[in-house]
Amino acid sequence: MLEEKVAVVTGGSTGIGRAIAAKFREYGAEVVIANRSADAGREAAEALDCTFTQCDVSSYDEVQALVDATVEEHGRLDVMVNNAGIGRVGTVEEMDLDDWHDVMRINLNGVMHGTRAALPHLKASEGSVINVASIYGLVAGPGATAYATAKGAIVNFTRSVAVDYAAQNVRVNSICPGFVETPMTEPTFEDEEFYEYVHGRTPMGRVAQPEEIAGVAMFLASDEASYVTGANIPVDGGWTAH
Ligand code: NAP
Repeated sequence: MLEEKVAVVTGGSTGIGRAIAAKFREYGAEVVIANRSADAGREAAEALDCTFTQCDVSSYDEVQALVDATVEEHGRLDVMVNNAGIGRVGTVEEMDLDDWHDVMRINLNGVMHGTRAALPHLKASEGSVINVASIYGLVAGPGATAYATAKGAIVNFTRSVAVDYAAQNVRVNSICPGFVETPMTEPTFEDEEFYEYVHGRTPMGRVAQPEEIAGVAMFLASDEASYVTGANIPVDGGWTAH
C-alpha cells in the first residue's frame, strides 16, 4: 500500500515512531528514521531496514538538512511524520520554566519545522504530513500544562496547514493517541495510582500498544486516505468520547 513512497519518521528510534517506521516498511515504503541519539537511531534503522539521519527537531537547520539528505538519497519525499516529542509534567505554577520552553521547542516547533521543510517536496509528490499530537491536544489532563498546550497548538496547526495546501493536493492530518506503552510512559505507569487512573478513565479499560497507533498512520499515509485532510484523529480507546 505504500510502495514507492519515501517517508521520514522523526523520533523513529523508539515507541510510537519506531512502530510507525516498522509498519511503513511492512507496507513497502522506504523510511528514514530521525532522532538525536545516534546509537539508538542506528540500531532501529538496522533492525527495520531503514536509514538513519541524526537530527534534533528543535533546530530548523537540522530538520532542513534531514529533508535535503532524504531527497538526495531517496529521490523524493512522500510522507513526513512529525512524531518526535518529550513529556513533561506540572501545573502552571509547579512546572519548571525550562520544561515549558523545551516542550515548545521540541513538541511544537519540531512539528512546524518538519512540515515547513518537507512542503516543497510534498507539493511535488502530492504527499502528506502526519503529526503526532495527543488526546491532550483535544482535552486537558491534570498537571500537563506545557504538554497539553503544545499538543493543542499542533491540532490547530494541522488544520491551518491542511487548509492552506489542500488545493495543492498535500494532505495534513494528526493522530491523537491516548496513553500508549512506550519508554515515555514507562516511568509514569510505575505509579500505581496513575496507572489505575488511566485504566479507569479509558472506556476500553487498557492502554494502547504502539502498533495500534501505527496502523492509523499507515492508513493516513496511503492513497486510501485520499480525501482525508485537516483531521485530528483520536486513537484513544474512547478517552475523548466522554
Ligand atoms: P518515546 O518512546 O519517548 O520516543 C520519543 C522519540 O522522540 C525518541 O525517538 C526520541 O529520540 C525522539 N526525540 C525526542 N526529542 C527529540 C528531538 N528534539 N529531536 C529529534 N527526536 C527527538 O515517546 P513516545 O511515547 O513514542 O511518543 C512519541 C510521540 O507520541 C510524542 O510526540 C508524544 O508526545 C506522542 N504521544 C505519546 C503518548 C504515549 O502515551 N506514549 C500519548 C500521546 C501522544 P532521542 O531522544 O534520541 O532524540
